[in-house]
Amino acid sequence: MSKRDYYEVLGVERGASAEEIKKAYRKLARRYHPDVNKEDPQAADKFKEINEAYEVLSDPEKRSRYDQFGHAGVGQGAGFEGGPGGPGGTGFDFGDFGGFGDIFDMFFGGGRQRAGPQRGTDLEYDLSLEFREAAFGVEKEIRVPRTEACDRCGGSGARPGTRVERCPVCGGTGQQENVVNTPLGRMVTRRPCSRCKGEGRIIPDPCPKCQGRGQIRVVRTVSVKVPAGVDTGNRIRMAGHGEPGTRGGPPGDLFIVIHVRPDPVFQRDGFDVHCQVPITFVQAALGDDIEVPTLEGRAQLRIPPGTQTGTAFRLKGQGIPRLRGGGRGDEHVQVFVVTPTRLSDRARRLLRELGEELGEDIHEQNQTFFERMKSAFGRDGRNG
Ligand SMILES: [Zn+2]
Ligand SMILES: [Zn+2]
Repeated sequence: MSKRDYYEVLGVERGASAEEIKKAYRKLARRYHPDVNKEDPQAADKFKEINEAYEVLSDPEKRSRYDQFGHAGVGQGAGFEGGPGGPGGTGFDFGDFGGFGDIFDMFFGGGRQRAGPQRGTDLEYDLSLEFREAAFGVEKEIRVPRTEACDRCGGSGARPGTRVERCPVCGGTGQQENVVNTPLGRMVTRRPCSRCKGEGRIIPDPCPKCQGRGQIRVVRTVSVKVPAGVDTGNRIRMAGHGEPGTRGGPPGDLFIVIHVRPDPVFQRDGFDVHCQVPITFVQAALGDDIEVPTLEGRAQLRIPPGTQTGTAFRLKGQGIPRLRGGGRGDEHVQVFVVTPTRLSDRARRLLRELGEELGEDIHEQNQTFFERMKSAFGRDGRNG
């Protein structure tokens, strides 16, 4: 006796998320719960089948074994096999479908309409870029996993050489009409055909590559033109590169989400960039022309005499190109004065001399500093 595919039992795709599986299970379990199906002897078996499928597919380890080896991979489920129902217990008899579900469809607001064209799902791809790639733009090849029509069967789902057939239960309409005698009187219900799930067609001999789904998962290489000036969090939309639509619906879009890697030299602030450059205290005191890094190489920067540590200089137009045109941001170069550490005897002597020479000046600056502390704390900062 062949067991039904667990994904089919729950009516979900093979790639369904845990959340989708749980949702499908809840819906079916409510529908086929024996307590609300007392008059339907098949409901109990159906309920068991649903629970068995859920037990395996909700457990990541069992699910992966099932995906690899089928029912044989999850042999513990054997307790369910056959079931107490005997003939027709677990078997899913396509020929006799009118029986269950109808009344409960009415009570539970069933009778869903045959679905129309549906747009495919949007996809998202995280793209990491180097700092300069983001600044100046780049063309990237990315590999995006997505669903496509099966190339073996051309998307029909039927084994090559065989055909998709009109559903014998609904005659191709995808709808089943049922006249049910209930305590409330005769009721006519219409619902998607249970045999073909509303498709109006069935596949007697499914394609071995896609198992009759007509779709396969593939990894496609997509070429992305990243414009100059993008930053972390920006999204590039590639229309029509998402999942394919169903029943003739249009495909979804692919969204490329940008992540910019940090740069060892530059920090970004909008379209401006910042960097820190060391200078000696001789350069700071006397002034100098120094070389500083830019995004595209190097530039000359004039340090005026008497420059304090932390002073920032602006290189106009050396920042990042603005996304929608409109020139470039600026580069801000902040200098910091490096205190010398390895001193020769001569250097030490010269510095002492220099200290004496500058003594007055340093003392004055100290005075100003302690005056400020006094006014801030209301007492003499020097003595704590
Ligand atoms: Zn196929
Ligand atoms: Zn049908």
